[in-house]
Amino acid sequence: MNKKMISAKLINEFEEIFQCPLCTSPMRIVAFKSLVCSNNHTFDIAKYGYVNLITRPLTTRYDKELFESRKIIAENGFFEPLHKMISELIKNEMHLDEETLKILDAGCGEGSHLASIKHKIVKVLGVGIDIAKEGILVAAKNHPNIIWCVADLAHSPFKSNTFDVILNILSPANYREFRRLLNDKGILIKVIPRSDYLKELREIFFDEPQKQSYSNQKIIQRFNTGFEAVDKFRLSHNISLSKSLIPPLIRMTPLSWSATEEKVQAFLEKMSSAEITVDLDILVGKK
Ligand SMILES: [Zn+2]
Repeated sequence: MNKKMISAKLINEFEEIFQCPLCTSPMRIVAFKSLVCSNNHTFDIAKYGYVNLITRPLTTRYDKELFESRKIIAENGFFEPLHKMISELIKNEMHLDEETLKILDAGCGEGSHLASIKHKIVKVLGVGIDIAKEGILVAAKNHPNIIWCVADLAHSPFKSNTFDVILNILSPANYREFRRLLNDKGILIKVIPRSDYLKELREIFFDEPQKQSYSNQKIIQRFNTGFEAVDKFRLSHNISLSKSLIPPLIRMTPLSWSATEEKVQAFLEKMSSAEITVDLDILVGKK
C-alpha cells in the first residue's frame, strides 16, 4: 500500500475528529482521496500522505534544512530522555484503558517527537500539525500511521474536546485553541527551554551576555494563566555529540539564524566533539 492510501485509511477511521478550517462543519474522506466538509470545501491528501489544511498564506522561517537537521539529531538519541519522560508521564496520568488515546502534537515540525512518543505507548492515534509544510513533508515520508496535517494552530481543523493529550514541544502555544481541543480529562504537556539549554551554542553565537542567558518565567506565567498547572518536571543532563553531529545541531535551532557562517565554521574547527547541555522544563496542565 502506498503512503497516500495508508494515510487515507487512517484518516477515514478517525474522520470524526476533523472540522473544516474554513466553515467548522464536519468533514469526511471521499474516495480515499480528499477530506471534504458538508459545504464541499475540499482538501486533498498529498502523495506522501499528509493533508494541507492551510486556508491563508502563512510564512515561516523554518525550512527543509532545519527539519532534516532535527531529524538527524533525534535519530541519534538526543531527545530520547525527553521522549521517555513524556511517555511515562502520559502512562501515569491517563489511566490507559481500551480506548485509543488521541494525542495531538501542536507544532510537530518533522515529527520526531510524536513518532518516538507514540512508539512508547500502545493504542495511540497520533496527530501532528505544523504550519511549515517542509516539516510535515519530512514527517509524512518517515512516519506513516500518524495523521500529519499542514495546519494553522489559530484555526485548527479539529472538533472541540477531541484530544486526550496535547504536546507542545519547544514550539509556540495557542492556549485558547488548546482549551478548545482538549477534552475535560485531557492534559497539556508543554516543553520549554531553561536558561542552560544549548548554552554551548548560545555562548558561541551571541556576543551580548544578555542574549546568552534566557529566562522562561514569562512563558510559565502564560501557561499558568491559560491552564491549571498540575505538575512540573525538569530534565537536565549533558550529552556528548561527535563532530559530525554538531552542524545539524546548529542548524536545527533558530539560534543559528543570528550566527554568521564564519562563527559556525570557527566553532566547528576547534571542536572534535562537544558536551551539550540539555535543560528543559516540562509543564503539565489541565483546563
Ligand atoms: Zn467547510
